[in-house]
Amino acid sequence: MTITPPEIAYAPKDAERLDHFMARAAAAYYAARDPFQDFATSPEISQAFGECLGLWAAVTWQAMGRPDPVLLVECGPGRGSLMADALRAIAEMMPAFRAALQVHLVETSPRLREAQAAKLGDAGVTWHEDVAALPEAPMILLANEFLDALPIRQFIRRGSVWHERFVLDGAFVEVPSDASLPEDAPHGAVQEVNEAALRFAGWLGARLKRHGGAALLIDYGPAESAFGDSLQAMRAGQPVDPLSAPGEVDITAHVDFAAFANAARAAGAVAHGPLPQGVFLQRLGFMTRAAMLARLDPARAQAQLAAAHRLTAPEAMGRLFKALALCDSSLPIPAGFETA
Ligand code: SAH
Repeated sequence: MTITPPEIAYAPKDAERLDHFMARAAAAYYAARDPFQDFATSPEISQAFGECLGLWAAVTWQAMGRPDPVLLVECGPGRGSLMADALRAIAEMMPAFRAALQVHLVETSPRLREAQAAKLGDAGVTWHEDVAALPEAPMILLANEFLDALPIRQFIRRGSVWHERFVLDGAFVEVPSDASLPEDAPHGAVQEVNEAALRFAGWLGARLKRHGGAALLIDYGPAESAFGDSLQAMRAGQPVDPLSAPGEVDITAHVDFAAFANAARAAGAVAHGPLPQGVFLQRLGFMTRAAMLARLDPARAQAQLAAAHRLTAPEAMGRLFKALALCDSSLPIPAGFETA
């Protein structure tokens, strides 16, 4: 009889669990660098994006019975462009909503808070480190490319055993894990778990149930949960090794929308979507607004139309990016999600 040595069920000294590595890398990155040199987000590409989301919030506020006050919350607001564009559109189209709303931004990076303060001027903004600090009131929450920045754990199937991935000296090491994960996974399958996103979904579901309101989350990832390694990093618009230079590159992962929606549902919210971003934006009248912007400024007309194409075309950001809405159960189907 052969005696197999016991498997080492702990990580080597100095190895860091992937989510801990990613949290540390993301915090250092957003604190020290201008992320918008490394990648372009929808609000930075077209002002019509934030304007349409602002009008989505305004229509949602009406459906909520026009609560006053109401919180307009954004998680991970970056340079503040989405909120600035949204507030401008809201002030023009529905001044009563502008008067009733209080702007709350959830942002951990002091450097990006400064950029947001400069952009939003006298909009009356309150900042928070964490959603848990938001006041108890009805709310409408927006988040674009926020969930993809939250840290993930990764597990890889080796034979009939799941192993967890740790990071050591810029490379993965694998440690046998007793996490409860699907037993029918093939050898080599990678399962990602975003515990921070799932906690946020649980908080959001309970919060919408308690005080009413809705959330709109836009990010990239598949509509259905799937195995796969989606960890990625960008530097100056180019993909780079996510483990190579922590804090110097933007490190993200695809969002598991199905898992996120399930966690929010379990906590009491109703989920709509996810829908491809292109479909969602077109239903909100995004193309009409983009065409109007092109007419208003002939010198930038081509750029406006190219930006609109980039956000909506399936081969660009229109299909990989998805929109997911969460609502309290008293609300009708939110704008754009009608046949989702
Ligand atoms: N929504 C913006 C920025 C996306 S970048 C846009 O579309 O342009 C991700 C944003 O989330 C940054 O503002 C970053 O500082 C913030 N962020 C990342 N992790 C966070 C966390 N755990 N809590 C709060 N904000 C976070």
